[in-house]
Amino acid sequence: MSIAARIQDIRLALPGGVDLVAVSKFHPADSIRQAYEAGQRIFGESRVQELLSKINVLPDDICWHFIGHLQTNKVRSVIGRTALIESVDSRRLLDLIDAESLRAGVVTCVLLQVHVAAEETKTGFSPDELIGYFEQRQFEHLEATHLCGIMGMATNTDDTERVRSDFRTIRALFDRIHVIAPDITGFDTVSMGMSGDRDLAVECGSTMVRIGTDIFGERRY
Ligand SMILES: *Cc1c(COP(=O)(O)O)cnc(C)c1O
Repeated sequence: MSIAARIQDIRLALPGGVDLVAVSKFHPADSIRQAYEAGQRIFGESRVQELLSKINVLPDDICWHFIGHLQTNKVRSVIGRTALIESVDSRRLLDLIDAESLRAGVVTCVLLQVHVAAEETKTGFSPDELIGYFEQRQFEHLEATHLCGIMGMATNTDDTERVRSDFRTIRALFDRIHVIAPDITGFDTVSMGMSGDRDLAVECGSTMVRIGTDIFGERRY
């Protein structure tokens, strides 16, 4: 099946209002071009160097999402070049993005990554840290960063109930933030769901799925 046909299939299966991020990490610019020609405009990358080299050779109207762990020494090179940084996994990173955005004269859109999965290897704000951040209204200090919502991953397991419960937890955190800070504007994205668990994520209230393998095939690392 072609990349274009796979994108078409996924789009048909997604309810309206759920955005599709085509995760193109480790896949060549040519594959991205095929997806682009099928109408796809949002692409996700997880490594800064790879992102920057793809930006250089691909159309300007692509919305690039950064979805990997962003090292603090690489923040400056992605500011102004991404539509959304989905993987802001600490206060320190958030504050640095804000400072660098202010310095560059741009506003950076971000999602806060929350850690609910069982794996220690996954990074992000703990649920308590996330809720505390909004309870203490820390977001009011941001000067050049727009908080657009949250991103999360479920535990990597065949246990459907565990995956569903992780996604419900992520969605419930998002809803709770709206109760804690009802005045927050433009905070409307819940990015959750990948190739293996996207149907469950959508069922649990995802507004943005990040799909790599189901579009581009297996990655060769
Ligand atoms: C790689 C990656 C994906 C895509 O995973 P697939 O299983 O290939 O769909 C989604 N989200 C994040 C954060 C990733 O790193």
